[in-house]
Amino acid sequence: MSRATSGVEALRVEDLRVYYPLRRTLEEVLRRQQRYLRAVDGVTLSIPEGATLALVGESGSGKTTVARAVVGLVKPTSGRILLWGRDVSSLRNRELREMRRAVQMVFQDPSVSLNPRMRVGDQVKYPLDVNGIGTPEERRAMALEALRTVGLTPPEEFYSRYPHQLSGGQRQRVAIARAIVLRPKLLIADEPISNIDVSARAQILELLRSLRERMGLSMLYITHDLSSAWAIADSVAVMYLGKLVEHGPVEEVFSDPRHPYTKALLQAVPSLDERKAGGEVVRLKGEIPDPLNMPSGCRLHPRCPFATERCRREEPPAVKVGENHWVYCHLFA
Ligand code: SF4
Repeated sequence: MSRATSGVEALRVEDLRVYYPLRRTLEEVLRRQQRYLRAVDGVTLSIPEGATLALVGESGSGKTTVARAVVGLVKPTSGRILLWGRDVSSLRNRELREMRRAVQMVFQDPSVSLNPRMRVGDQVKYPLDVNGIGTPEERRAMALEALRTVGLTPPEEFYSRYPHQLSGGQRQRVAIARAIVLRPKLLIADEPISNIDVSARAQILELLRSLRERMGLSMLYITHDLSSAWAIADSVAVMYLGKLVEHGPVEEVFSDPRHPYTKALLQAVPSLDERKAGGEVVRLKGEIPDPLNMPSGCRLHPRCPFATERCRREEPPAVKVGENHWVYCHLFA
């Protein structure tokens, strides 16, 4: 599963925090208090060039916010985002535009991310128009080539269609064509198969895999679907309520998960057998807590069957449990 990489980091996220200020009550205004929703709270991860990292977790874990911060759609509260070693916050004008072009995103729902009133070809061509790349004829040729690359053939036919004339899988192919037309080096795929028919999911996953090989892409693959993470990624990072709980090589984490939350997630996937889910059955109690009211200490402690008094008080540190395999849990500290 693990593929050779150049040793260069395509993406490095350091201690990323994204806090959203909450609307204040009159009492809070008078006391000059401000509460925050801590959507992402100190996430550090990296993707070697040419590799794929799957960022997994339930909805509300903060994984999409990490992705949106990387592409500049969300402003980090603190922390650093480095692309090929360059801190994005230090880039200006042309350098920033070039870096932004090198990182493209495929969104979860193509029926939302595509404009229903624009022809498919014009939407794929749009990033070229905005960036002033080539002549109008060259831009059209590049858009046609992108449609061909994602398997929408003959591309001339798809070029003039509207999104509603396509299936969900075809729409997601258009969204992918639009993302690759600028020849990016890093692709962020945010739940790219969760809003399309089951029958098309394997094909879209295979398309992403083949694009990665053909274009030498690095990839951040966001998903709540562990089976697809297993199928596409070299490494995996698991998030819970804005924090990482475990990360490491995908085969190692899936065959020998350490964190109780990772174990519980894996055991909930019928297609991953018990051996891959780490043997011992972990049953979490209750539901995900209200993110506006984060638990103290380890955020999993109200649900974790192994929680101790220390878990209620102290945030668990990162503990190395294998080569590039880290877990955030007091059981290993
Ligand atoms: Fe459970 Fe404690 Fe580990 Fe958190 S730190 S996962 S509460 S054992």
